[in-house]
Amino acid sequence: MIPAEFDYDVAESGDHALQLLEQHGDEAKLLAGGHSLLPLMKLRLATPSMLIDIGRLNDMSYVRDDGDALAIGALTRHEDVEGSDVLEQHCAIVAHTAGEIGDLQVRHFGTIGGSLAHGDPASDLPTVMLALDAQMVLRSSSGERTVGANEFFTGLFETALGPTELLTEIRVPKLTGGWSYQKFHHRAQDWAIVGVAAVQSNGGASVALTNMGEVPLRASGVEQALTSGSDAATAAQEAAQNTSPPSDPFGSADYRRDLARVLTRRALQEAMGR
Ligand SMILES: Cc1cc2nc3c(=O)[nH]c(=O)nc-3n(C[C@H](O)[C@H](O)[C@H](O)COP(=O)(O)OP(=O)(O)OC[C@H]3O[C@@H](n4cnc5c(N)ncnc54)[C@H](O)[C@@H]3O)c2cc1C
Repeated sequence: MIPAEFDYDVAESGDHALQLLEQHGDEAKLLAGGHSLLPLMKLRLATPSMLIDIGRLNDMSYVRDDGDALAIGALTRHEDVEGSDVLEQHCAIVAHTAGEIGDLQVRHFGTIGGSLAHGDPASDLPTVMLALDAQMVLRSSSGERTVGANEFFTGLFETALGPTELLTEIRVPKLTGGWSYQKFHHRAQDWAIVGVAAVQSNGGASVALTNMGEVPLRASGVEQALTSGSDAATAAQEAAQNTSPPSDPFGSADYRRDLARVLTRRALQEAMGR
């Protein structure tokens, strides 16, 4: 398939990208790794008349130890997230999950910011960010704001990003407890049919689900059961509460609900055992 006609400009800096966004407004789309946007354009599900290429803004590709938290530049490619020593040491669930995305080519091109901004409920990193209570730093020409992961994902392929905003950085906490990301897929390089992120916290765990609704979901029934003293296997039975998983050729909604319970049990057992 061939995309609809569009103009193209290369942003030379973050400020330049913001200027171009102001200039072109709703008509424009940022292009990072292109591994979600370009397939949509080829199917003509997205028809921006202007592409602003931010893929060369190397100063937005980094992972830094910022004291209490880690800062990840939005243009950090999945491969660099996976290989980050700082993440491996302090928040290894992020590095591990980036290594579970697609295949080598996807990980060479795709960026963490693109994955989050795309707002696909089948993506892996949004779920991990939700379990971690990560903070997204958004910049526009009128200033900067920070949005928690629980408010960032607003609907199917929709986020809190405004049309003239750039996601610049993701801030994740340093972990002191165990973690797990369980991804169930047909082939190694496929999207998750269901995924579960679990991060151990004081007396319980934060648990979030991939592909169980229109946005990544917190499994609050599981979290409450753990806080009330249930063991992992008992708490995991609550995993499908308040979910609305899709049915597709890879699995029915009921199959996904079952998977969510099984994967949550495995995730909790792994997180608690680490
Ligand atoms: C074959 C294949 C398999 C894949 N498998 C998986 C998988 O298993 N798991 C998974 O999670 N993902 C998977 N992906 C998606 C992959 O991770 C994408 O790279 C990622 O979702 C999008 O990142 P990108 O940098 O390519 O973004 P792009 O495609 O360039 O952009 C995506 C969207 O985000 C916007 N955007 C990008 N960067 C910013 C920013 N900094 N600020 C504001 N808006 C921005 C763009 O305007 C666009 O709307 C797969 C993709 C392919 C093609």
